[in-house]
Amino acid sequence: MTRAFYIGRFQPYHFGHHAVITRIAEEVDELVIGIGSAQKSHETTDPFTAGERVLMVYNALEHLPIRHYVVPIEDIRYNSIWVHHVVSRTPHFDVVYSNNPLVIQLFQEAGFCVKESPLYLRERYSGTEIRRRMIEGEKWEHLVPKPVAEVINSFDGVARLRTVSTSDSNFSL
Ligand code: NAD
Repeated sequence: MTRAFYIGRFQPYHFGHHAVITRIAEEVDELVIGIGSAQKSHETTDPFTAGERVLMVYNALEHLPIRHYVVPIEDIRYNSIWVHHVVSRTPHFDVVYSNNPLVIQLFQEAGFCVKESPLYLRERYSGTEIRRRMIEGEKWEHLVPKPVAEVINSFDGVARLRTVSTSDSNFSL
């Protein structure tokens, strides 16, 4: 039995992530999906909470044919022990899929088998581009699975993103 790990911020979850996960599901028996930067929300680059992103991923993957787990994972300041932090929060996994260079580097250094997941229409399916469209009032719903658009619209996520993207409403310690 092979269980894989795949992590993303999913701000928001889009068809690029979906294509990768669908492909991974053809190669392994189970999949652990990490919701990265779980502590972040209400920021221009990270507008949605971990709970909202869990719902997006869970609802979009309702028909994924393999067992999968969705686990929020907070960032930590120490990259050198981040893999241990991830491992302590997730079911055991044998292989990691990613094309984030830092994620690949850290898991390889920790001795994991890492497989690079190919990018799927990166210019079209990109969290940065989808958030830009939301802020500018352009169409974005066709870039995400329908259940994801339903989750975002259920709490008026676009209005939140527009509010937090105005510079004087950002808060940092
Ligand atoms: P992301 O949501 O931007 O991307 C997730 C994955 O999907 C990435 O591998 C990305 O390359 C891929 N992807 C994006 N668009 C795609 C497309 N069109 N087709 C196919 N694949 C596509 O998330 P991310 O920022 O890469 O997530 C990594 C997470 O790991 C972050 O939350 C980061 O903070 C966390 N992290 C934390 C630490 C630490 O806390 N010290 C260290 C390393 C990583």
